[in-house]
Amino acid sequence: MKKPKVDAKKCVACGNCEAICPEVFIIKDEDNVSHVITDDLFGLEGCIEAAVENCPEDAITYEEEGGE
Ligand code: SF4
Repeated sequence: MKKPKVDAKKCVACGNCEAICPEVFIIKDEDNVSHVITDDLFGLEGCIEAAVENCPEDAITYEEEGGE
């Protein structure tokens, strides 16, 4: 299954991913970077891909994870 990840070193907290796909991405106050907040990604592929495309820092990856 593909899973999104945010590279905290690249994220500049612009808010695009949260605006596009708030079911998956939230910028947390404690570290001011975007986090993936759910493993329940059913039906969210389109908005995750839109978030990836609209991240100005290319901080989001969305790739297959091994070990299912
Ligand atoms: S779109 Fe990219 S840089 Fe902007 S908050 Fe999301 S992960 Fe961070």
